[in-house]
Amino acid sequence: MLDKMKVKLMDFMQGRYGADHLYLASVPVYFILAIVQIFADIPFMSVLLMAFFVWMFYRVFSKNIEARRAENAKFLAFYGRVKKRVNPVWQRVRDVRKYRYRKCPECGITLRLPMKRGTHTTNCPKCKHRFEVKIRV
Ligand SMILES: [Zn+2]
Repeated sequence: MLDKMKVKLMDFMQGRYGADHLYLASVPVYFILAIVQIFADIPFMSVLLMAFFVWMFYRVFSKNIEARRAENAKFLAFYGRVKKRVNPVWQRVRDVRKYRYRKCPECGITLRLPMKRGTHTTNCPKCKHRFEVKIRV
C-alpha cells in the first residue's frame, strides 16, 4: 500500500522541479504570514496567502526546470547579499561581552578589541597607527 503510493508519487514527480532553497525559505515565511493573519485583520491577506501557497507549490510541481532554477539562483544571490550585510552585525551582537569594535582613525578598518573598560592605546595592524581607545561600557 505505502510502496504503491510511493511509486505513484515518484511517477508524478518525474520531470518536475521539486523543492529548492527558495521553496524552503518560503515555508517559514508562509507560516509567519499565516500567524500574523490570525491576529491582524489585514484586508485581502487571506487571498494573498492563498496565492503565495499556490505559487510555492506551482514551483515545486513545475516542469519548466530551467525557469525555476533561474528563480532559485536569483534568490540565492539576493540571500547572499543580505547575509553579507547582516553577518557583521550578528558578529557584534554575539561578541558584546568579550569585544568592542572600533574604527582606525587613519585607515578606517574596523578593529576588534578586547572588552577592557578604560582608556587604552592600540596599534592598528594594517597601517601601524597608534591611537587611543575609550571603552566605557
Ligand atoms: Zn589603521
